[in-house]
Amino acid sequence: MIWIGGPPASGKTTVATRLACRHGLRLYSADTRTWVHRDRALAAGVAAAARWEAMTPAERWERSSVADMLEMSLHRQRGAMVIEDLAALPVSPPIVAEGSVLPPSAASRGIAVRSQAVWLIPTPRFQRQRLRARGTPPGPTRLYAALAALIRDEATRAGVQIITVDGSRDVAQIVAAVEEMLAAALVRGPRAGAAHERQALRSEANEAIAAQVHGYYARPWASGDPGAVVQLFICECGDATCCELVPMPVGALGSQRPAAPGHTCGDPGP
Ligand SMILES: [Zn+2]
Repeated sequence: MIWIGGPPASGKTTVATRLACRHGLRLYSADTRTWVHRDRALAAGVAAAARWEAMTPAERWERSSVADMLEMSLHRQRGAMVIEDLAALPVSPPIVAEGSVLPPSAASRGIAVRSQAVWLIPTPRFQRQRLRARGTPPGPTRLYAALAALIRDEATRAGVQIITVDGSRDVAQIVAAVEEMLAAALVRGPRAGAAHERQALRSEANEAIAAQVHGYYARPWASGDPGAVVQLFICECGDATCCELVPMPVGALGSQRPAAPGHTCGDPGP
């Protein structure tokens, strides 16, 4: 198991996706489990989860204190849920787990191996730039800044490997730095070797992305058509060197497989 943590806008999803594609590993993105996790917290009677669901967007993002936003983000509870999720996944091929809620304390508790874990921590300035470029509204921007500070502290305390992301390196350079740090873990097998195995793993990751969108629109307070939402999906051509992301409406995923221009998806096989 490989752990790639870090707050929103640290680039961890891109890095983890590239590593999973390139090395034939299963991708677990905690960000695709938000609604499943929130439902689990509601079922467990977590008051902060119920409070958040009952609020209007303005109450959540404009009238809540940062401390309250942090509590309602379920950062701590979701960290425990990630560990449960990972324990339930098949043991082969190795998993690249990524997400803001990955708890660095997993390393101090012996659940994560330090040489197989890295946290990407953006500088406040870099995170602000990235969030602005994404059009993130002021409320979530405040929460993400607080999460960055919290996760940096947690990662430092747990003694995990940290890469500071300040914009001086591009994504390819950060991927290379992570690969170098995790080199021993990345070559440990068994990894998906055949094209149909890689295709199956990419399809699984894409289904998780679509499920997250469906999960959002299934909330009682959400409205809109999940099928019309365009997301970036991983090309399912199954080529070991391909890590391309393909924009496609979520609704099209049922009838066509995402493929970059000129790439073809064969029979996904057994
Ligand atoms: Zn491709």
